[in-house]
Amino acid sequence: MPEFLNPVKGFGVTFRQMFRKVDTVQYPEEKRPTAPRFHGRHQLNRWPDGLEKCIGCELCAWACPADAIYVEGADNTEEERYSPGERYGVVYQINYLRCILCGLCVEACPTRALTMTNEYEIADDSRENLIWTKEQLLAPLESGMEVPPHPMRLGDTERDYYQLGSAGVAPRGREDQGARPGPATESGPDWTPGEGGAGQ
Ligand code: SF4
Ligand code: SF4
Repeated sequence: MPEFLNPVKGFGVTFRQMFRKVDTVQYPEEKRPTAPRFHGRHQLNRWPDGLEKCIGCELCAWACPADAIYVEGADNTEEERYSPGERYGVVYQINYLRCILCGLCVEACPTRALTMTNEYEIADDSRENLIWTKEQLLAPLESGMEVPPHPMRLGDTERDYYQLGSAGVAPRGREDQGARPGPATESGPDWTPGEGGAGQ
């Protein structure tokens, strides 16, 4: 290109752009699906009988680079059981003013209790509303699940419970409902007590 055209060369880029196909999404009227592995808001998952997968271990909170998670654990009792095993998360909060949706907490969780959904509409104009509580984060009850506290319904021993729960087996007395896979964003854990290791 001749030297004397240099001052107007940049306009060529603008001019070319005018004839390209517009790719504007009319959000919020038009919403496109996210990529399947998009990191949206979190979810605390349940076993097939409704008990919570979270054991209140705080590993997610320790892994979080933004210090966005607060967990308090408590002991289960036979009369009041929220999760299989000894402990459950009595308080669970995620501060979405801090969270950068990096997913490190999900990687740290040993029971696959914590996963991320594809939901991204979590903006709010109130600081309080952006601190999500356990009740907001817990997965909805699916067919055949009961609201905790209640006894373990999947097996007599913890090993049975975790193996049957991982396989999506229906709680006892509800076999007619067949196997139910977990929520779409949740992968079944390969973990059983005593074997250690992360969920995947
Ligand atoms: S996604 Fe990242 S920033 Fe958000 S709570 Fe998890 S570890 Fe913390
Ligand atoms: S979500 Fe997972 S890592 Fe976090 S406290 Fe519960 S079991 Fe532990």
